[in-house]
Amino acid sequence: MNFIQLNNSCYYFQGAVNIGYVRNGENGLLIDAGIDKQTMKKVLKRLQGDNLPVTHLFVTHAHSDHYGGAEHLQSTVDVYTYAPKLEAAMLRHPIIEPLYLFQGNKPLPEMRNKFLEGKPIRVDEEIEQATYPFGDIFFQCYSLPGHSINQHGLLIDKILYAADGYFAEEQLHKHKIPFIIDAKDTLESLHKLKSIDCVGAVPGHGLFEEDFVKTVDANISYHLKLMNSIKSVIQEHEAGIYHDELVAEICTKWDVGDLNVPSWMLFRTAVTAYVTMLVQENTTELLINNYRLMIRENKKSSH
Ligand SMILES: [Zn+2]
Repeated sequence: MNFIQLNNSCYYFQGAVNIGYVRNGENGLLIDAGIDKQTMKKVLKRLQGDNLPVTHLFVTHAHSDHYGGAEHLQSTVDVYTYAPKLEAAMLRHPIIEPLYLFQGNKPLPEMRNKFLEGKPIRVDEEIEQATYPFGDIFFQCYSLPGHSINQHGLLIDKILYAADGYFAEEQLHKHKIPFIIDAKDTLESLHKLKSIDCVGAVPGHGLFEEDFVKTVDANISYHLKLMNSIKSVIQEHEAGIYHDELVAEICTKWDVGDLNVPSWMLFRTAVTAYVTMLVQENTTELLINNYRLMIRENKKSSH
């Protein structure tokens, strides 16, 4: 992991999952905590080596690659921990992610791996879109839902820590179908990111960019392309397509590769996120046919 300084106070550890760091006098704020104890150990070693304090933690959203290292941090250092409302509930009770991915059934042990469930952590303050003091400066939180139910990014000293509000372009192509839970919120959050006044942004996965707006635009077109591809598969099946068949067709079309049960659950959720946007737009409807969930073009609304 490279430790990169962006200005007088802002830094980030650049890795598979980025971890932000902001220093203000005796205060040091980590933004996310990496996936596990080993990652956090490296982060703490580097900060201690550079004589940089750690007093606060901000968790952007309750995905274990962003909070899995937090339990080790909290058990080693006295950190005041912020997290968005709702995400905080999942950080305190991390079984909620495998539970929702497994359709509300009690998740089987294979669903409870470190990629889907980290160790529970303490949250001292639940945040919302507002300004919060940090030492003698402030940070502004921005709600960026879509990738998760209440993800927040953070703007401090003109640097935007955007969490998984957008992905580096190569991440989009690597994942084929990026994980989202709501397509409408995802697109609205992407447009919102473009309006935030800052000198550059650090995404959760990828490099800091001054001109991050072009990457955000690439995310918008990528999601629209996926949406259109899903829409055209639905239209090709005039009598309707069963939900599991649609998931299979889209995973094949976008060449997501071999899946196991947990990764299939992630793709099913992402595909469904686009379907629900089409339903919200009234161009598509959900129905039950032969006890199976079916998706059909809503012809009534298109005239
Ligand atoms: Zn995430």
